[in-house]
Amino acid sequence: MKSDVYYFTARTFNYKESLSRFKGPSALEKIGFNNRVQKGDNVVIKTHFGALENVRYLRPSYIRFLCDHVKDLGAVPSVAESCGWGAPEEFTGIHTEYSGRAGEKEYLETAKIHGFTEETMGANMLMLDGLVGTNIIKQAVNGKRFNEVLVAGRLKEFDHLILATHFKGHGSAGFGGAIKNLGIGCVSKGGKVQAHVGKKFDFNFEAPISDYENCLKICPTNALGESPEGKLIRDEEKCRYCYMCKSVCKNNVIDTGSSTREEFITQMVDNAAGVIEYFGKDKIFYLNYVIDVTWQCDCTGGSDIPFVSDIGILSSLDPVAIDQSAVDLVHLSKVNPHSILGNIGSISKEKSHDWLSYIPRFDPKTGKMDLNPDGKESRHWEIQLKVAEELGLGTRDYNLIEVKAESKK
Ligand code: SF4
Repeated sequence: MKSDVYYFTARTFNYKESLSRFKGPSALEKIGFNNRVQKGDNVVIKTHFGALENVRYLRPSYIRFLCDHVKDLGAVPSVAESCGWGAPEEFTGIHTEYSGRAGEKEYLETAKIHGFTEETMGANMLMLDGLVGTNIIKQAVNGKRFNEVLVAGRLKEFDHLILATHFKGHGSAGFGGAIKNLGIGCVSKGGKVQAHVGKKFDFNFEAPISDYENCLKICPTNALGESPEGKLIRDEEKCRYCYMCKSVCKNNVIDTGSSTREEFITQMVDNAAGVIEYFGKDKIFYLNYVIDVTWQCDCTGGSDIPFVSDIGILSSLDPVAIDQSAVDLVHLSKVNPHSILGNIGSISKEKSHDWLSYIPRFDPKTGKMDLNPDGKESRHWEIQLKVAEELGLGTRDYNLIEVKAESKK
């Protein structure tokens, strides 16, 4: 059976067609949100505040008007993110690519710089996996690679989840949409690590304790200790899988392995399945903002110019259908000749095309980004859709229903 996806164009002629104030809340209404929410319900809006240097994340007013809409219905909104990979800079004193997002304190500071505060949102703001990513729920899942995933623990405080996602390209996943916002955005810090590298987590307990000095110091749960013989001990019961010990491990005594791009995508979708399993399929409302479609994720400092024009807002109760429709609309668009894809001579700039197949991609073997100047095709974007459909998260078949806003033109 096909799933319904509602489409509100990015074209606007007057204030009544505002993407932020009217089309976002209307997109929620179309998928039945207004009828489902009861007075006093706690509603969490999960979005991305953007890496410190990023400028293509969703503008705060998109989220503010969703908060106002939730309040108009008598419910209580909160705006949330989850901790990024790595150890907070306040713990390490070292600025890395992941700085600014590794813990609640530094991420809310980044959010403030980007315009997201409790004042601007008119709502509480929080990290779904706690102060440093240790608030977790272990959820059993019948995934392709995982049978248990680390769902962000504070999800349990909420009655409904609005996934307000910036749809864009992604160097590893092919694209970032609703599925990725579930499988990376709604799992804990450790859930993100496991999606990227898998479940391997081996300690060399024979190494001298001096090799573990930093790891012992940073462990926030005291899961790591020293035996009378001067060897490392790890209490698995206490471990909350934040992987901060690995982040500061300078001696390669902790091995978390690595994953191929295909494995990463599959693991991410397994995580998404766990989040849905835990929170409940009928309590999640999906909005994809298909605007500022760059090839980079919001979690990077890079913010290249978009490779297609703004498309609009999509809403659905089906994460697979909404992502498939976003992909299709991107592929029906003309490519921006001034974008990175405009530089690739071997792909057509006139016809609709599978643009996401040509965006720069991360090469796990070299650890570098391949900017793909030769226009090599890579259909990694399709893997997450296929896997998600196979796992029963939704369907790639959809009815696209365009909703015309009132125009005063
Ligand atoms: S042992 Fe490592 S992963 Fe576990 S809680 Fe401590 S720092 Fe986090």
